[in-house]
Amino acid sequence: MTQGARVTTRPGVHRREVATHCPYCALQCGMVLREATGRIEVAPRDFPTNRGGLCQKGWTAAELLDHPDRLATPLLRDRPGAPLRPASWDEALDRVAAGIRAVQDRHGPDAVAVFGGGGLTNEKAYALGKFARVALRTRHIDYNGRWCMSSAAAAGLRAFGVDRGLPFPLADLGRADTLLLVGANPAETMPPLLRHLADQRARGGQLIVIDPRLTATARQADRHLQPLPGTDLAVANAVLHVALTEGWLDRAYVADRTSGFDEVRRTVAGYWPAEVERLSGVPVADLEATARALATVDRAIILTARGAEQHAKGVDTVSAFINLALALGLPGRPGSGYGCLTGQGNGQGGREHGQKADQLPGYRRIDDPAAREHVARVWGVPADDLPGPGVPAYALLDSLGTAAGPRALLVFGSNPVVSAPRAARVESRLRALDLLVVADFVRSETADLADVVLPVAQWAEEDGTMTNLEGRVLRRRALREPPPGVRTDLAVLAGLAARLHAGALHRAPHRTDPFPTQGPAVSSGGNAAGGHGFPADPRAVFEELRRASAGGPADYAGVTWERVERDEGVFWPCPDPDGPDTPRLFTESFPTPDGRARFHPVTHRPAAEEVCAEYPLHFTTGRVLAHYQSGAQTRRVDALRRAAPEGFVELHPDLADRLGVAGGDEVRVVSRRGELRAPARLSPAIRPDTVFAPFHWPGAARANSVTNDAVDPVSGMPEFKICAVRVEKA
Ligand code: SF4
Repeated sequence: MTQGARVTTRPGVHRREVATHCPYCALQCGMVLREATGRIEVAPRDFPTNRGGLCQKGWTAAELLDHPDRLATPLLRDRPGAPLRPASWDEALDRVAAGIRAVQDRHGPDAVAVFGGGGLTNEKAYALGKFARVALRTRHIDYNGRWCMSSAAAAGLRAFGVDRGLPFPLADLGRADTLLLVGANPAETMPPLLRHLADQRARGGQLIVIDPRLTATARQADRHLQPLPGTDLAVANAVLHVALTEGWLDRAYVADRTSGFDEVRRTVAGYWPAEVERLSGVPVADLEATARALATVDRAIILTARGAEQHAKGVDTVSAFINLALALGLPGRPGSGYGCLTGQGNGQGGREHGQKADQLPGYRRIDDPAAREHVARVWGVPADDLPGPGVPAYALLDSLGTAAGPRALLVFGSNPVVSAPRAARVESRLRALDLLVVADFVRSETADLADVVLPVAQWAEEDGTMTNLEGRVLRRRALREPPPGVRTDLAVLAGLAARLHAGALHRAPHRTDPFPTQGPAVSSGGNAAGGHGFPADPRAVFEELRRASAGGPADYAGVTWERVERDEGVFWPCPDPDGPDTPRLFTESFPTPDGRARFHPVTHRPAAEEVCAEYPLHFTTGRVLAHYQSGAQTRRVDALRRAAPEGFVELHPDLADRLGVAGGDEVRVVSRRGELRAPARLSPAIRPDTVFAPFHWPGAARANSVTNDAVDPVSGMPEFKICAVRVEKA
């Protein structure tokens, strides 16, 4: 379990030390964990992404390991409405297996669903996808990464033929003459990344930020464009319009390396800067200056993040920025290109190995016959036995407990009661289930609703791999074993698989073995055990993942744990253990059928919900420095809770004046779906027509009580970033 930990023991001192990475965001900062006579310390470590820096979330990450809220035993609810009570692992896993069997016997395999998370290791994401398709035979699996990077992923796939958040090493940011950040606020979400921006500035580079709020990142920019939420696409088209008018098109690049430009040219011809200024509020001078800054330098990078992507037109918005990058000839050149800043810790790897509804390992499509054959062979099952594609995360959650939807749900590494859009509705769907199982290490708000809660290991107690925002595969190393009573997620899947296997054989003894055995000997419990194709050993799972991903777009066949250790990570695709990895994509061609990148003409359309007399303000959501995602972890860390103890609503002072609200007054933000209550925080950093709330808190301050569940038609991304509200003094 604790491979790679260095142990020093001398009289009176027992010291254990391991080099690993932060458990939180996709920057995956390098850190050292030291356990000296029972106390665990975190220290930053020099790694190419963080270069010796950590944010306060990373510094305090170890506090949760021995936190009093830590779950140390499974919990069961005997009947609806009864309190959760402690139970043994055997009783809990028996109950889950029996519940799954009962639901599937009555309603069929698709009546059980799985919901994963973008923070799970590659091994867990892979095992979860396999567990859904092989052990449960359900098509219903998706994950919370659908709400993070799916729009950029879909836009990247259709333009470049592959989805890797950054197709170049992060260090390229420091080499760019111009860096355009769209809807990204790394100063609060991943502060050590600013070291790369500092490099860029020191070399005379220019930083431009597009964001409806004057964020901590925007304050550092040379130019801040502050559009109305939901108008980024029009801004991108207008910038391209200017570039074409000025003759800044990279004609040779467009002719040699792309297709589909003419239609984009015709489309953006209609995006006159003066009209886009009227629509977005961004002055013509800023649109022109942005075009000039990107087009008249040697190296320019455009990065999008959730601000641009979490819209019902998120895919088209990202496509507009990709069109701009392609027209200027940026992708594939060192120090230049387009990229997406991935958010969750394993947001990249978590979307490559089968947690997505339409996906098999290696970023293969589940509806591709050749992909099914390959993966089925690795899994030792007939390809015809693999289910087809499921549905994206919100559609899945919205269907729970309905006549046509799943009746049982297994949740790993996610807290949708806080993080899902239109969260009250999602909560009601979870309550309608026959069986809700949650694997977590604290009692999250979703675990509070569960019939069975399974206590699982934390990051410092498990080995495995993560893939960071650059597509670099990293090693997560265990410092110590999980506490007594706690199992790893892989051990949970192994235990469940063993029970489901035994049940399947019992009910149909004439059938061939429904789960092929590829792991160690069969066992139903313990962290080291596993069987029936579901080994609990992460190294064994990774070796299988390598085979399953071989030949796919995200090819890990040449990635070994030894190589990851030796080379500070390995960039996929890496098909050959003795061949090179791929830090930089697109240098010669794009992985499309004709080797060319594809332009996609896109047009502005209004948000799914526009303001009106009853709901006259725009509402947008985001993050604060001290908290991560639903806050289930960071809200329990003393220093972080002190830094940001409660939710708030950010209002422009002019708007507050109009509403008769003073700073600190409790306000209600009301949409058609619900309301949130939190103290007002007045700031000129936000537009007077827009209000903002962070989404890390549950209860009355839950921002997602208000958000819209309209989704992007291509990616399934919900429209977290804009809906119509009214604000009242509470
Ligand atoms: S949360 Fe992100 S930026 Fe902060 S220390 Fe962890 S990996 Fe680094």
